[in-house]
Amino acid sequence: MNPPVALVTGGLGGLGTTICQQLARDHLVVAVDLASDAARVDAWRARDGHEGIEFIACDVTDDAACAALAKDVQARHGGIRTLVNAAGITRDATLRKLEPEHWEDVIRVNLGGAYHMSRHVLEGMLARGEGRIVNIGSINGQTGQFGQTNYAAAKAGLHGFTMSLARETASKGITVNTVSPGYIDTEMTRAIREDIRERIVSSIPVGRIGQPEDIARVVSFLCGPGSDYITGANIPVNGGLFMSF
Ligand code: NDP
Repeated sequence: MNPPVALVTGGLGGLGTTICQQLARDHLVVAVDLASDAARVDAWRARDGHEGIEFIACDVTDDAACAALAKDVQARHGGIRTLVNAAGITRDATLRKLEPEHWEDVIRVNLGGAYHMSRHVLEGMLARGEGRIVNIGSINGQTGQFGQTNYAAAKAGLHGFTMSLARETASKGITVNTVSPGYIDTEMTRAIREDIRERIVSSIPVGRIGQPEDIARVVSFLCGPGSDYITGANIPVNGGLFMSF
């Protein structure tokens, strides 16, 4: 029997790469990313554990491109069973300095991208009565963050999207969940000023920054057979940095 097909947006990124590798254990994985840099794509392809992972360039803010991608993958591999929406960007500034363009870019990629890709993958999932969608949120969507009104709004909105879509699909064999990472050791957090980064790490109860594998394992669980009864949930994976009911 062919393995189920998984599509991972932001698949070239720090988290997306590891999520692809983890899912490739029991899925045929298609990584989706902007691929603005050809050398980066070649380096990604050459990494260990990427055998069998297909790469397709696509801008998740482009609805027509997402539709074409979903159609192409379904035609070549059969239905897409698993979708992980991990494409994301930050454009940080305090609200007074936040340009409209940077507000819109962050909402369009982090929130709009999940909408565009989910809507074109969903029809197939509904037809087969089976599907898993995992949206990658952020601790900053749960707590807010200085200089991130755009990013926190997009990530909080993403969880509203998750809960609503979970309600629409719960009786159809589809689960939709958010995984909200804390601070994970990737390019995105390496861009944080060293002294601020050190302060953040020292405040994490488990005493270390997260690794991409910490997130990928939880995503994989939510995409696996043991999680049928979890939908509309927001799973925090943050080393205890933020706890709430
Ligand atoms: P990265 O920046 O490493 O990866 C994000 C990827 O998304 C990049 O490859 C980026 O491409 C791609 N991307 C950006 N815009 C688009 C687009 N329009 N269409 C398709 N792909 C696009 O970030 P991480 O791997 O660290 O983060 C992955 C997700 O996890 C993000 O949603 C992020 O917000 C979230 N997250 C990360 C945390 C962390 O600590 N790292 C913490 C909490 C949440 P390019 O590089 O060319 O822009």
